[in-house]
Amino acid sequence: QYDLGRYQQTGVLGAGTFGVVVRAVDPDSLADCPAEVAIKLLPRGELLKNFKTYVTREILHQSCLEHPFIVSIKEVFLTRTHLAIAMEYAQGGDLFRYVLRHKAARLAESQARWIFQQLVIGLDFCHRSGVANRDLKLENMLLDRDGQDGTRPLLKICDFGYSKHEMNSSAKTGVGTPIYMAPEIIYGGNRYDAKAADLWSVGVILFAMLIGRYPFSQRESNVARNIVSATYSLPDDVQVSAPCRDLLARLLVANPSERMSMEEIKVHSWFLEDLPEGA
Ligand code: ADP
Ligand code: MG
Ligand code: MG
Repeated sequence: QYDLGRYQQTGVLGAGTFGVVVRAVDPDSLADCPAEVAIKLLPRGELLKNFKTYVTREILHQSCLEHPFIVSIKEVFLTRTHLAIAMEYAQGGDLFRYVLRHKAARLAESQARWIFQQLVIGLDFCHRSGVANRDLKLENMLLDRDGQDGTRPLLKICDFGYSKHEMNSSAKTGVGTPIYMAPEIIYGGNRYDAKAADLWSVGVILFAMLIGRYPFSQRESNVARNIVSATYSLPDDVQVSAPCRDLLARLLVANPSERMSMEEIKVHSWFLEDLPEGA
């Protein structure tokens, strides 16, 4: 049990890189307000090592991004031991666990499209606001419900802990998780376009949702070589439509200047099919 100020802890949702995320209720909230929150706890001692960077990334960027497909921050406070970030609680958990709940750990193409469309719309909003996420992966995509009753869950992008604003100098250091990391980041040393790198990760997420494994498996010894040459293969036993294959092939392009742009994704035939109204 953590000290959470006026909130009461009701569970643990995840343990991350250097913090923990707990579930809590606000006992004072009015009956018609959602009382549940998720609280990310970052140890103060750890934070002090690079306070400005942590606060800018974890709090400032995300709280500026008010959008239905981005987790909203409700309140930030200090406890004796932690910096606490109270956010909207996503009942369905993260996309990694959602995908695992499905047969063969993969989604049907129409289900994957529904998630993909929301990811693209949410990320387009981030990018137009000047923010690249730089840590897009299944674990950082949350869902508002588990969808086990056949309803379609709404997507909420979370974890801006590695995010970058374009007003600051362009990205040079490689951050993120290797299996989602764009070739230009693997190469290292040079400045890269963080938005184009996000779109590579979007391709990896799409592949993983459809196939039930990663396109560039960490189990293979030549994983880095496969990534920088964008060498991946679709298994024969999984049906993937031609437009969807085309989209994947244009996202997982090694050269970032030849990779599909956000504008191109938004007019691709696979993306446009069954697009939610008003999107
Ligand atoms: P880290 O930076 O340590 O990866 P995250 O912000 O990604 O921390 O949170 C870690 C995990 O906690 C997520 O992958 C997810 O499973 C869970 N989680 C985080 N925020 C929420 C939330 N708002 N609602 C529900 N679960 C959450
Ligand atoms: Mg995370
Ligand atoms: Mg993080």
